[in-house]
Amino acid sequence: MRTIGRFAPSPTGPLHFGSLVAAVASWLDARAAGGEWHLRIEDVDTTRTVPGAEATILRQLESLGLTWDGLVVRQSERTARYDEALEHLASARLAYRCRCSRKEIADSALRGIDGVVYPGTCRDAHVPDQEAAAVRFRVSAGRVAVQDRAQGDIAQDLPRDLGDFVVKRRDGLHAYQLAVVVDDADLGVTDVVRGADLLDSTPRQAALQRALGLPTPRYLHVPVATRNGEKLSKQTLAPAIEASRAMEALRNALVFLGQEPSAGGTVRALLCDAAARWDPNRIPRHRAMEAPPAP
Ligand code: GLU
Repeated sequence: MRTIGRFAPSPTGPLHFGSLVAAVASWLDARAAGGEWHLRIEDVDTTRTVPGAEATILRQLESLGLTWDGLVVRQSERTARYDEALEHLASARLAYRCRCSRKEIADSALRGIDGVVYPGTCRDAHVPDQEAAAVRFRVSAGRVAVQDRAQGDIAQDLPRDLGDFVVKRRDGLHAYQLAVVVDDADLGVTDVVRGADLLDSTPRQAALQRALGLPTPRYLHVPVATRNGEKLSKQTLAPAIEASRAMEALRNALVFLGQEPSAGGTVRALLCDAAARWDPNRIPRHRAMEAPPAP
């Protein structure tokens, strides 16, 4: 089977070292196998989109030599596909409308892996279509386990750890968990390689894949880059990767991923060598690791 990988940045700002690590790992994993690598802009939450961020990300990837196959996919253009998936879930009685406010849910006081565990208040409430409501996925009893290529097994008991989770928000936007599952399946993604901050989302995605009759890809979660213990993110104002420092940034990303960068004089040569030498077994088995000092 041909390997199909992808990189799925949210257009909330330029790429920083943390996002570069995910991009490099997924690119190398796909290219080392002679496979395809797709670029998907995860703008499903349009309220978080920063104007100009997508163009910046595309320019950064080009200057880093991280070439993608096919057209750029944008989630904001795929909402009809997400609605189809919701209909599928609803017709199997695996989704229902929920009118609970955040406060009502918070008052349920049961803590889970992602805040509070939704107590299922609206499961049988039959909230009418005219009423503003979120849509939740009805999780089934039992553990959902996913084998990660770097982090080992991750298993969750969704009813206990999370409860029925939101697949469409009350404001009408589809949830990331639903969009990512539909998108990965439509692209034929065989290997998801991304940051370990999404490890805890993986059983949720596997449960949705099963409910929608979609295959579960292989997963490889790479350590999240931190600085002084805090995840590098646009919120922590992590410095953007600059085109003029592309070589240095790539080398740092390779070292972070446990690989040995070659002397490669150009980004192309460096990446080509790195793909030839790519060894996912050398990726540190940590969920988070300190990033090198910014170049
Ligand atoms: N859009 C997510 C992010 O930028 C990545 C989601 C994924 O790779 O599944 O963190």
